Amino acid sequence: MGFSNYNILLKHGGKNIVFNTRTKSLLEVSEEIFDLIRTKDVNALQNLSVRNLNLLKESGNVVNDNINELEYIRVLHNLRKYDTAAAGLGILLTKSCNFACTYCFEQDRKGSMTQESFARLSMLLKNMLPTLHSLNIRWTGGEPLLMWEEIADISDFLRMECEKRSINYIATITTNGYLLNERILEKLVLLGIKQLQITLDGPKEIHDKRRMLAGGGPTFDTILQAINLATSYVNVNLRVNLDDYNINSFQSLIDILDVSILKKDKIKLFCRPVVDCIKGNLAFAGGGFAKVEADLMKIGNRKGFMFSFHPNARFGLRCLYYQCNSYYVDPGLNLFKCPEHLNHPWRAVGVIDETGRIIMTNQTNYLESMRQDPFNLAECRNCRVLPLCYGKCALLYETSGKQKGTGCIPEKRTLEGKIRQALTSQDRLQEFVEDIQT
Ligand code: SF4
Ligand code: SF4
Repeated sequence: MGFSNYNILLKHGGKNIVFNTRTKSLLEVSEEIFDLIRTKDVNALQNLSVRNLNLLKESGNVVNDNINELEYIRVLHNLRKYDTAAAGLGILLTKSCNFACTYCFEQDRKGSMTQESFARLSMLLKNMLPTLHSLNIRWTGGEPLLMWEEIADISDFLRMECEKRSINYIATITTNGYLLNERILEKLVLLGIKQLQITLDGPKEIHDKRRMLAGGGPTFDTILQAINLATSYVNVNLRVNLDDYNINSFQSLIDILDVSILKKDKIKLFCRPVVDCIKGNLAFAGGGFAKVEADLMKIGNRKGFMFSFHPNARFGLRCLYYQCNSYYVDPGLNLFKCPEHLNHPWRAVGVIDETGRIIMTNQTNYLESMRQDPFNLAECRNCRVLPLCYGKCALLYETSGKQKGTGCIPEKRTLEGKIRQALTSQDRLQEFVEDIQT
């Protein structure tokens, strides 16, 4: 018998809390048990009552000698990685965008899915459905709402078919928010699209210099209005792209959101460094972004804003890049393993043919993604949040020159803070549990 490698200990509001990243159990324990887990005092386990010892075993805080936790996580990861009955599709119906963001690295902003291509994509989905138990659709772009009618059309079909076939269906949309209105939001709810991702890059004076309309013109006020409207219908993940230029304006953005957002509980913040994967440009090089994330979270938390929890834990995978049956589809029906590879044709792995089937066109690219394995990296094998992460963001890791500490999920540094966030109310605790349950 011994202690789990995945116990996270913290004191909160006079309570002794133990969270286990492998089993996702969250316990309040006595001072004595807290100290025993902290000091990893194996001999003292025999002094515990049978009830307490069983509780610690059931929660995964104490493990029998015959349990190899790392193997357990590896098996779970591989079951998900090679599960051909689970599919994820990030769909880019159009490369066009009504914005012209200064840091947008899209070289080719033209091209939308033709009717013929859209019919092939629909055929692919129809072909796939009978083989699936879970389907994850991510609408992205360009600006996806420029092709809202097509999204609504196919989503109607998918929602009905998945319900009929008992397929676990998850759909999200990443939009700049400018075109959102009540009609679209009402329909999103009916279509089962429960989460929107919208981006603000700072207070108005900063944001409007970075995320302007394609023909020129500000967007901040319209987006802020759209976020408030959206929170009446769906949950909003509010993304802030950060680099050296706007990092210091994060506090001002939070101050503005504090007085402008009416339903804070419907918003979750998350911050990302600006990155150009092809040129190898990474803001906060050397893993620097991970260091500032915890401070950003404190700034948001002080005004009552939650930070999102990385959803990997639920899927047993870092991202679609690692999953054998998941792809990002561009308007020409080329298939990629990472959204940052869209627009770079040499990164494609395959294509959807005229019968709605996937044809592999570049086995090397596909195998490159499949050979990524967190269990081959000592840094990941020894990481306490491995069961919440399941491996590097291959893009950030490669771009940084494989530097230690890069490509990690924010929770590597912010987990304790996020547990504290969760413990502030019953509702937040419930959300936390839903975010991490496998
Ligand atoms: S990528 Fe980073 S956070 Fe994730 S398991 Fe590896 S070391 Fe841990
Ligand atoms: S490799 Fe990184 S950027 Fe690409 S899909 Fe995975 S997490 Fe996202």
